[in-house]
Amino acid sequence: PFDVLIVGGGPAGASAAIYAARKGIRTGVVSERFGGQVLDTMGIENFISVKETEGPRLVAGLEEHVKSYDVDIMNLQRAKSLTRGDLVEIELESGARLRTKTVILATGARWREMGVPGEAEYRTKGVAYCPHCDGPLFKGKRVAVIGGGNSGVEAAIDLAGIVSHVTLFEFLDVLRADAVLVAKLKSLPNVTIVMEAQTTQVLGDGSKVTGLAYKDRRSGESHTVDLEGIFVQIGLVPNTEWLKGGPVALTPRGEIVVDAKGQTSVPGVFAAGDVTTVPYKQIVIAMGEGSKAALSAFDHLIRLPVF
Ligand code: FAD
Repeated sequence: PFDVLIVGGGPAGASAAIYAARKGIRTGVVSERFGGQVLDTMGIENFISVKETEGPRLVAGLEEHVKSYDVDIMNLQRAKSLTRGDLVEIELESGARLRTKTVILATGARWREMGVPGEAEYRTKGVAYCPHCDGPLFKGKRVAVIGGGNSGVEAAIDLAGIVSHVTLFEFLDVLRADAVLVAKLKSLPNVTIVMEAQTTQVLGDGSKVTGLAYKDRRSGESHTVDLEGIFVQIGLVPNTEWLKGGPVALTPRGEIVVDAKGQTSVPGVFAAGDVTTVPYKQIVIAMGEGSKAALSAFDHLIRLPVF
């Protein structure tokens, strides 16, 4: 069996693999797509100590670093279930079963999309999902924020300090964010709030976003707004469908519950990165959490009667 098996090959999983392998223990990484969300990212300006890089370049660096250690990389493999007996067993879609003394779950998350025409086409060309990442790229420009929950309203407040104008679109007739955030948002001079708006299309000129079309759900009328950026804030979905009904405790939103050491509700099962309850989903945070989970797994291993 493995000493540490990591499920997920994003920044959290890669970092966990390096920290585990450096302890000289048998380490494996199973990933559906090595690199994770970073593969879909263009400009990265907050990977500390690297002023500017691109997702695929960062992933190439991650891969080279992991491969410089004795790590069994199983790419293009999707985990299907986790069971706990004497050992932890991870079953893959391929039918293979991997047995391990400890496991680190690092399957990440995905942004919920609007699902309207133009959204996929203009992703990274004006359609963005992460204000901490991409906000500064829209300095002095006009942007929309889609979604009036906490993340949308927080994003709108954050962006209002950077961009020239923010229009927040909410589908319902109420903003679900905390009252204190809504009050703050409404006090800002360069923010417009459009309620009961159903976004219908991302408009562009072929190379970048130029506007957004929406339908007023009260009147049924269609409108367009000219702008340069659209931040979609309608939820981040953890990749834990495969763990539902299993032994690992999840929150109602599907995040894996972890403590300060990355320990889940199941002994020997750790988790790290965007898939967990740890707040602020960022590359440097996922890497830090991955290394922490690997050190915790090692700590667990050296306490086992036979190791
Ligand atoms: P992920 O990167 O999501 O990796 C998850 C891994 O698990 C992948 O390898 C995936 O294939 C695998 N996986 C999932 N399910 C299974 C399964 N069942 N079986 C096996 N493998 C599975 N952050 C920044 O800090 N700066 C930025 O500029 C930035 N820009 C971003 C831009 C975009 C467009 C996006 C989408 C995100 C951006 N982020 C940015 C956020 C950052 O990418 C994430 O916080 C980070 O990638 C999380 O790392 P992770 O390892 O936890 O998960």
